[in-house]
Amino acid sequence: MGQIIIHVDMDAFYASVEIRDDPSLKGKPVIIGAMPDERGVVSTCSYEAREFGVRSGMNIKEAYRLCPQGIYMHPDFRKYWDVSEKLHAIWDPYATSSEPIALDETYLDVTETAGDFDRAIEMAHEIKKRTFDDLGLVCSIGVAYSKSAAKTASEETKPNGFFVIRTREDFVELMRERNVRELFSVGPQTAKRLESIGITKIGDIAPRRKDVESALGKQGSFLVDLSQGIDNRKVVAYNPEDAKSVSRELTFQKDTDDYVLIMDLILLLAMSVEKRASDYGHTGGGVQLKVTYSDMKSITRSMTGGIYDDALSIAKGAWELLRNIPRRSIRLVGVGVFNFSESRSRQTTLFDEGRPPENELDHYLERMHRRYNFDFVRNKEVLYRGESLHGIAEHMRLRRNRTR
Ligand SMILES: [Mg+2]
Repeated sequence: MGQIIIHVDMDAFYASVEIRDDPSLKGKPVIIGAMPDERGVVSTCSYEAREFGVRSGMNIKEAYRLCPQGIYMHPDFRKYWDVSEKLHAIWDPYATSSEPIALDETYLDVTETAGDFDRAIEMAHEIKKRTFDDLGLVCSIGVAYSKSAAKTASEETKPNGFFVIRTREDFVELMRERNVRELFSVGPQTAKRLESIGITKIGDIAPRRKDVESALGKQGSFLVDLSQGIDNRKVVAYNPEDAKSVSRELTFQKDTDDYVLIMDLILLLAMSVEKRASDYGHTGGGVQLKVTYSDMKSITRSMTGGIYDDALSIAKGAWELLRNIPRRSIRLVGVGVFNFSESRSRQTTLFDEGRPPENELDHYLERMHRRYNFDFVRNKEVLYRGESLHGIAEHMRLRRNRTR
């Protein structure tokens, strides 16, 4: 039996949440991401901002050039995360499995819970209505026989969209004349390679199967199938235990060669990594350091053999890796753990004799407190929440310039 899949995708999610919470923003070009005088990109923007040509992923400087009158805001991930949990509380009970692909987007397998397409369509209308009634937010929905068709459908009439693709034939008919970029998983690079062999339309892919496969290999066969509406992938509920690694990284507002500052930030990144890994019940068997230098050259170094289950051991591992790489001006630093073993639970960890004493971490934080004059270094909960890291890093850098 075929599948019935609903794809739900919130419209301009971060911006919509901010507008909902501050009605004075309504009707205005709201741009969530970096500030115009910072480094970074647009995360999400309201549809009013899109009218100026602003897009997600666009460099913030370019966005500002197009829309200087925009209202620029940093993302508040903690808030979006909370909203996301409420969204899933509405959506997930409709399905046997729910596969989130972003905070605001999920695939729902309703094959069994709906039984047939008509009921699935009713469910999808209910989902849309409840999402708006309960949370005041608008989503677009696609109902289809496969994951990629459902995703295509949810984009079809976005925003506030609703679209159904019942069969492979319907999909092929709908997509035949469209540009390959509209096919699921085709990005600019793949589109360029298809164009280099003379393919621009989705309908041109399958008749050229051999050429597509030799140009794109395995991905080529997948695309040939997709272009014919064939996609048997299942909806796989996200299981944190499947995660292969946990990492956090930070791009500095301004490149820095201040290695004391970099080491301090590594500790903060490590605290955030510890929090995330322990939320998932993971203990790292390896630690990784990623550095991007000012010339954009990136290097990654890692080591295994230890137990990296708390911020200090993760940071110490990363510091050691840092010592062995060339010292130059740095643009980005990232810290991660991998090689997970079965974790001791949080409770046992607290009583584990092998764990570095809590006060050793406190000692480091105390030193940072003095160095940067933070009030909140003592409040580890704030630091554990990695979302505020960019603001903290900037504060630290400014402080450090003054005190150096
Ligand atoms: Mg979305």
